[in-house]
Formats: sequence, C-alpha cells, structure tokens
Amino acid sequence: MNHSINFWAVVPAAGVGKRMNADRPKQYLELAGKTVIEHTLLRLLSAEVFTAVAVAISEEDPYWPDLDVSAHKKIITAAGGKERADSVLSALKAIRTVASDDDWVLVHDAARPCITTIDIHHLIDSLKTDEIGGILALSSHDTLKSVQGDNIIVGTLDRSHIWRALTPQMFRYGLLKNALEVAEGNAAITDEASALELQGMQPKIVEGRPDNIKITRPEDLALAQFYMEHQND
Ligand code: C5P
Repeated sequence: MNHSINFWAVVPAAGVGKRMNADRPKQYLELAGKTVIEHTLLRLLSAEVFTAVAVAISEEDPYWPDLDVSAHKKIITAAGGKERADSVLSALKAIRTVASDDDWVLVHDAARPCITTIDIHHLIDSLKTDEIGGILALSSHDTLKSVQGDNIIVGTLDRSHIWRALTPQMFRYGLLKNALEVAEGNAAITDEASALELQGMQPKIVEGRPDNIKITRPEDLALAQFYMEHQND
C-alpha cells in the first residue's frame, strides 16, 4: 500500500517544573515577550512540516486556554499524565484516528523553547529513511564521574561513548505508541528512546545544537533569552 508519510509533533507540557521555584509551571513563565510554551509551539509550527501538533496539558492547568496558540487550527490538546511518558502516550492516542503506523512523530519538550528549524530539518533529513528513528543529542565536554553512596567517585566514564539526550526525538508512530504502552508505569522511561531500547531496538543519535536547552532552573530563562537574541534563522 502506498500512502504519503505524515509528520506529527507531540509536545508534553503537563509538568510542574518544581526546580524553577516559580508560582506557575515553567512553560508559562515569560521569556522575550511570550510564554516559554508559545515560543516552543510557534517554532514547531513555523517549521512547516507537521500535519498537526498534539500538546499534552494537565487537566488542572488554568493558563493554556488563555493562550491564542491553544486555538490554532494545527494544535490538538490532549490530557496530560502522571509522568512525561504518560503525557506523550496520551497525545499519541489523541491522533490515533488520523496517524498511520509508519508516520513519523517528533516528540519535543515544551520546556525547550530555543529549538530551531535548522535542527528540526537536520533530524528529519538524517532519519527519514530509517526504520526506527532517533534523537537529537549532544556529546559531553566535561569528564564524567560515576558516583555511589555519599558522593563517592567509583569510576570515570569514557565520554566518547556518552551523549546527552535532547528533543525532538523522532520515531515511527506505531513503534513509539506500542513501546510506551508496553513500558507504562516503568519509572526508568525518561525519554522516548529508552522505551524503544527496552524492546531491544537501537535508535540513532543525530548531533544537535547546544542552544536547544531545556528550561529547568531559574537562570536558564536568561540563557534562553541570550540564545534567542543570537539566533538568526
Ligand atoms: O520535568 P522535565 O523538564 O523533565 O519535563 C520535560 C517535559 O515533559 C516538560 O515539557 C514537561 O512539561 C513535560 N511533562 C509532562 N507530563 C509530566 C511531566 C513532565 O508533559 N507528567
């Protein structure tokens, strides 16, 4: 059967972001005149590759309906879940009647507002002929220590084999949905790739840009603003 492959974006945005110590979830903090999540979604939409963007939002979230982007015709709102993986699965289920198993899904954290069209296209161009998919990642410039107990160093890792997982993470719709369903409740699943790895699959690494930071701590907002001011794509 021959049909055209669609690309879908999935954005988990149902986290609380405790490490920000703010009065609201971090995706609703202001950054360069907009909320963090507005930057993220507008950048995904401006890549002009996605059929739709499914966003997982907490059911107790009072901020989302007030954003203009929540009513955008390409935005689909899904219910958030307990963990990030539950939120992603919920968003995948929200597009099940329109997505095909061999369509591509790019899962991207709401908390990564500096994502560039360059990185989105680089990921897609690198993986679109792949069977499974892969993720944007960064190599580590620091020496990495393995630690046990009360911060005791028990070894030094070979950093040439270690990469930091970023998002977007790009997988076939059917494989990803199945892997997340099988892994449901497993706390070790902190990204999409780990759900596929659990099934014995070997997703690929695509080198991403270092400006694709995740807003985690208060100082990250100033860093994100700096990167945005210096991005010219
Ligand atoms: O907390 P952390 O930065 O790892 O969260 C990554 C992304 O996953 C954020 O965009 C957050 O909103 C989302 N998330 C979610 N549902 C949860 C927990 C986190 O959608 N239960």
